[in-house]
Amino acid sequence: MAKAWLSLGANMGSPARQVARALQLIGQNQNIRITKKSSLIITSPWGKTDQPDFHNMAIEISTGLSPLQLLDACQHMENIMGRVRGEKWGPRLIDIDIIAFDRIRMHEPRLNLPHHHAHERDFVLVPLREISPDTADWILQIKKPD
Ligand code: ADP
Ligand code: MG
Repeated sequence: MAKAWLSLGANMGSPARQVARALQLIGQNQNIRITKKSSLIITSPWGKTDQPDFHNMAIEISTGLSPLQLLDACQHMENIMGRVRGEKWGPRLIDIDIIAFDRIRMHEPRLNLPHHHAHERDFVLVPLREISPDTADWILQIKKPD
């Protein structure tokens, strides 16, 4: 079993409900077990401020999936949640990113591990630090400019 850390974020619809629904979907996947959950943090948007606050959290999971299989599973759940009443694809109401997968470093078109922006985003690092300070430190360490 591998350990991985996911970042969940939403700022459309009912963000807290969307995050709760994502947790439910992740928990229903037979190949994923949620082992830790951070608090849900609310952050104001910056830059483009005319949009709702963001809700973010991080979870730790134990999984038998490979990194790419996990990405497929995350994207599948995003699709399920983005679908508007079976008509056509509506706006995506949830973002599920893989922050890190064990201590794997991988740079492929579909998947960067650890997530290429994790180290510069407090809304990812703060919840991650709450559940896995070692992983937060590892990410900062390897992303340090030489
Ligand atoms: P973002 O998460 O950057 O706001 P998207 O959720 O639309 O944007 O993701 C864009 C693409 O990023 C995905 O299609 C996926 O293939 C790629 N990607 C690369 N690394 C990761 C990662 N660690 N976790 C999730 N997606 C990733
Ligand atoms: Mg994403």
